[in-house]
Amino acid sequence: MTTHYTIRPVDLGSHTFHVTVQIDDPDPQGQRFFLPAWIPGSYMIRDFARHVLRVRARDGRGRPVPIEKVDKHTWRCAPTAAGARRRTPARPASITLAYEVYAHDLSVRGAHLDTTHGFFNGSSVFLLPLGREWDACEVEILAPEDSAAHDWRLTTALEPCAGTARGGFGRYRAQDYDELIDAPVEMGRFASLRFEVHGVPHEIAVTGAGPHLDSARLASDLAQVCATHARMFEPRSRVPPFARYAFLTFAVDDGYGGLEHRASTALLCRRDDLPYAGMQASTEGYRRFLGLASHEYFHAWHVKRIRPAAFIPYDLARENHTTLLWVFEGFTSYYDDLALVRCGLLRPEQYLDVLARTMATVLQHSGRRKQSLAESSFDAWIKYYKPDENTPNAVVSYYQKGALVALALDLSIRRETAGRRSLDDVMRHLWRRYKQAGADYAGVAEDEIAAIVQEATGVDASRSITAWTRETADPDLAEQLLDFGVRVEAGPTLDPPHFARLGCRVDPADGRIRLAFDGGPAQRAGLSAGDQIVAVEGWRAGNNRLDALLARIPPGRTVEILAFRRDELLRFPVRIATQPPVSWKLSLDPRPTSSIRRLRTGWIGS
Ligand SMILES: [Zn+2]
Repeated sequence: MTTHYTIRPVDLGSHTFHVTVQIDDPDPQGQRFFLPAWIPGSYMIRDFARHVLRVRARDGRGRPVPIEKVDKHTWRCAPTAAGARRRTPARPASITLAYEVYAHDLSVRGAHLDTTHGFFNGSSVFLLPLGREWDACEVEILAPEDSAAHDWRLTTALEPCAGTARGGFGRYRAQDYDELIDAPVEMGRFASLRFEVHGVPHEIAVTGAGPHLDSARLASDLAQVCATHARMFEPRSRVPPFARYAFLTFAVDDGYGGLEHRASTALLCRRDDLPYAGMQASTEGYRRFLGLASHEYFHAWHVKRIRPAAFIPYDLARENHTTLLWVFEGFTSYYDDLALVRCGLLRPEQYLDVLARTMATVLQHSGRRKQSLAESSFDAWIKYYKPDENTPNAVVSYYQKGALVALALDLSIRRETAGRRSLDDVMRHLWRRYKQAGADYAGVAEDEIAAIVQEATGVDASRSITAWTRETADPDLAEQLLDFGVRVEAGPTLDPPHFARLGCRVDPADGRIRLAFDGGPAQRAGLSAGDQIVAVEGWRAGNNRLDALLARIPPGRTVEILAFRRDELLRFPVRIATQPPVSWKLSLDPRPTSSIRRLRTGWIGS
């Protein structure tokens, strides 16, 4: 049987999609319909049902069917006549729900509709008829009636049905609900660039690109990134595991985010990060954009196909806990930049600068002493995804420390096998296991990573893995990198002076403290997040003046800082820090031994 949906942007001004869902043979006891509480890849309960309005139900003859809400995201229709009177001979019955969805969430996770474009994830708009999880789905995506949108087109990884041109409004299909909600849809007037990776068509749709986008460069650079990932997982065929792939990109003045799907990704980026005609060298922003696209593309293998056992299947009603996000997000974060250096979009020296920044970010924050990577993964739902002023003091990032653990594992494997094996072999091993299991694929068990590393490479890393991920030890990267001809020295900090000298982060415009680091000078003096620093040694500190004032004060000196706490002006004697924050400079040893050079070349090229 097939679940039929329609979706139409009915009112761009009020951000409203109109949606219907129709099934035959509904549960005679009262068919229930459900909307996910979260979207896979973004580990937080978001309660998308809060934007669903005016739900109505009708039977196959168009008669109204009473419907009621039974919990925060489930609706139940009244039992049908057939259900009420069991002895009535069965006759074709169907039920259709119609409702509206308010769509004004400009993120990769929800739905957004206005006069410039429309975007939705199925998890925000399509109610699931419970019991029909594995039925085929068909959705008719209707063009907006608004004449201002007469020239809109759409793009999605969903397959068009016969009679619908790809990229046009019309009917699309998915093999089940899981696939339906794993293929976001973008509609509007977007720039569309195309390239192929070993015969597989790829599209980059960019909404809001503005004029002068260097399409050719963007397509050619992304093609290299994609080919690099495909070659790593499939060194022989080099063919990625989907029939086509789409990057749905929304460029804005300021924003950043990505969400992975099995054959597409939704990206939110800064317009200024995209390449423009005449741009010479790669900008930091462009590197960040390529890293984001690289990250989400890698996920098409790692987390969309290779999955934690805890995600099979997803339970979309509640939190799905796993201690392995450091594997699925951390390894992906390691490979997103590594792919850029492997395909030549980053020079090895630039890659080392990126690594140095990740190392500094992880080592600066005391949260890594209080929470293990396994704990951080498990609690992502209530901690990493719900940051507050204490997060750096209490939480370790499974992205960033996870990436460092991936690096440390990669280096250990390469060193112990004299460069014959690497973390790539672990990824390929996981990938082969996924492909061989087919429908029986059970996912990666919570305590299985060390065994997988050993099977794939022969290296026993179990003690290190336990220390780095179940406990709170840091990998000793300085020592490991030395074996790869990379020198690690203390480096100049890139952070503004107040960060080092006061041990806090301050909004320079208004002097307000965003967070105070554990044991830092500000916290020791009694300053806390939310306080607004107004003067240092009697001089006004707002209007971006704080750093200039602090830069002149010798380390170790105690100065008086005036700050408002709520509406009360308080005085704090603060001893300016003598220790700069942790930062690193990573550099290539220009004259490594031949064996070290071989190891290094195997890792990041020459
Ligand atoms: Zn990710």
